[in-house]
Amino acid sequence: MTEKIAEQTNMEDLGTCTTGSKTEEPCPRPAVKMWGRSALCKEHLQEATVQTQSDDLTLSLELLTAFIYEARGHHARALAEDLERVQAGLQERLSDTDGFLGMLTRAADSHKSGA
Ligand SMILES: [Zn+2]
Repeated sequence: MTEKIAEQTNMEDLGTCTTGSKTEEPCPRPAVKMWGRSALCKEHLQEATVQTQSDDLTLSLELLTAFIYEARGHHARALAEDLERVQAGLQERLSDTDGFLGMLTRAADSHKSGA
C-alpha cells in the first residue's frame, strides 16, 4: 500500500498538510495529494485511505447482519450459513484493518507533543 500511494504522489506543490490546521498542533509535513477538500501528507493520506476501508467494512457488516436476520426469518438456512461465513471473513478483515489504522494514526500523529 505504501508503494501505491508513493506512485500517486506528484511533485505539484500543495503546501502543508491541512490535518489539524485549526488546532494548536497542525501537521507540519508537506501535502502530497488532495483528499476531498483537504491537502494531506503521505502519512495522513494513508491513514485516510485505510479509514475509508474500515468504514466500508463496518457498513458491509451492518448490512450483512440485517441480511442474515432476514434469511433466518425466512428459514433460508443454507443462505444464512453462507452469509455467516462471509461475515466471519469481513470481521477478520475489519479487525486487521483497524489494527493497522491504529498503528498509522500513532505514526501520523507523531509530530504532536507527548505522542
Ligand atoms: Zn499530515
